[in-house]
Amino acid sequence: MPIPLPPGRFAGDPGPLGVDLHMHSTASDGALAPGEVVALCAKRGIALMALTDHDTVAGVAEAENAARRLGILLLPAAELSTRWQGVGIHVVALLPTGVSGALETALAAQARAREARAVEIAARMEKLGLDDALARAREQAGSYRPLGRPDFARALVAAGLVPDVATAFRKHLGSGKSGDVKAHWPPLAEVVGWIVEAEGVAVLAHPLRYGLTRRKRGLLLDAFVEAGGEAAELVSGFQNADITRDLARQLDERGLYGSVGSDFHFPGGHLAPGSMGPVPRTAVPPVWMHPRLASVVAARCDADSTGAL
Ligand code: AMP
Ligand code: MN
Ligand code: MN
Ligand code: MN
Repeated sequence: MPIPLPPGRFAGDPGPLGVDLHMHSTASDGALAPGEVVALCAKRGIALMALTDHDTVAGVAEAENAARRLGILLLPAAELSTRWQGVGIHVVALLPTGVSGALETALAAQARAREARAVEIAARMEKLGLDDALARAREQAGSYRPLGRPDFARALVAAGLVPDVATAFRKHLGSGKSGDVKAHWPPLAEVVGWIVEAEGVAVLAHPLRYGLTRRKRGLLLDAFVEAGGEAAELVSGFQNADITRDLARQLDERGLYGSVGSDFHFPGGHLAPGSMGPVPRTAVPPVWMHPRLASVVAARCDADSTGAL
């Protein structure tokens, strides 16, 4: 089955792009197994996707198998946790040649950091009255994958300490609250360095979701570029069209590529694979036109259309 090539530029068409480069599975805090995410993408007409679980590529092999079966092009990827000027910043690593030596070591270190961080978050949640917080978060995760803040949020809800997950984040786990533990994450520049070394493309995730002013966001983008970052998410889920146009200017000024993703975590919410705000007509090139990705995308499309895969 030939895969239609995604567009070579953002032409401002209102229709769906058939691309989603930011989604989660049960390998991190998503609800669907990696293969189920891919199947849902196929159903929704996605031709190019990336599974971007937090600090792990554990779901990528399963997703690749499903993607091959369903005729979807999948880029190996992960969403890496970092810190910059006291803010927790996420970087999507698009890894066309997969995970090699140094990055493998780095990902193992991220898993250990997440474990140590969970112990610290648990101690802080116990101060709020959540006894045996680590065990309760583990119970919510329902598997041995590394724990994240959503597991603690659900544990707080289950214990009746807050009415819902949104309140748990607003009061206890969100940015600047006691459960927002960032000290374990490596600096932004270090993480970008790992990605560049692995011949990947570093994408600054959801630049509008850090609560930064436009000026501070510009400084973040500058630091990201300085470290070797080459792209940023121009559209992450549903976002205001005017704000997207302004963000496009900030990317254009720095010669960054633009990525798009839903940040899908679970079905039944307001987001699904491929759902996102409109992409404006802009000079910012799509990240899949980056030389390190374009060759992979084109090769796979050719191979598929000649039946070589
Ligand atoms: P962590 O990776 O452990 O720092 O947890 C971050 C994750 O928590 C994000 O990727 C989201 O899935 C989730 N999250 C962050 N903020 C909120 C919020 N306000 N409401 C619900 N989930 C959130
Ligand atoms: Mn998440
Ligand atoms: Mn994120
Ligand atoms: Mn995400």
